[in-house]
Amino acid sequence: MTALILDYFGDWRTRLLTCPVCGWTGTFEDGLTEIYDSLQDCQCPGEHRFADRPMLAVLPYPTLDQWQAHAAQLSPGERAYIGQIENGRERFNRLKLRLASQLPDLPGSALDLAWDQEGDDLVIRWGTCEVWREPVRYEALWRYEQILALLQAKYGPRLRDLVPTPAAEYHLYGDKTAYPAAIQRLRGRLRQAWQAAGTASLG
Ligand SMILES: [Zn+2]
Repeated sequence: MTALILDYFGDWRTRLLTCPVCGWTGTFEDGLTEIYDSLQDCQCPGEHRFADRPMLAVLPYPTLDQWQAHAAQLSPGERAYIGQIENGRERFNRLKLRLASQLPDLPGSALDLAWDQEGDDLVIRWGTCEVWREPVRYEALWRYEQILALLQAKYGPRLRDLVPTPAAEYHLYGDKTAYPAAIQRLRGRLRQAWQAAGTASLG
């Protein structure tokens, strides 16, 4: 059986769902609902063996574009929520690191930097020195790669490491189980480039 796909901006709160197996009838929220990252689903709460419990409906969460398209029919709470997302995005775009030339000069031939988090800020540190600060992003491998590229553009092969601190891991990795290994690979490549440059300058 294929679950019904509901429209978040439709009548799903009042629409009656019916189980084709046991005949149970009720709304989405009367059923056994489970919340995921991008959707909520509803299984029949009637008498079924665990594996046979029918999936009655799936409710995908709207994208930011869909929220904006439906701005007029949003509740004040939903509008505030969208406003927060938009403000967060706007603030990030205003404060984010764009150019390598925004970074400070640092001395030394082996720069080990930390990817740290303080409140809602990502902080790039070199020892006790704050190198950069901007609003932190969630599941931010893409941002790690961007900042790493800007750090490399600024410091060249003197950059030896960009180590996530425990405080930064939750936002950096989120629910992405592949991210820690991806960061390890990027750090490994960075160290190789640092070693290669050291070998070259010795020879
Ligand atoms: Zn049922």
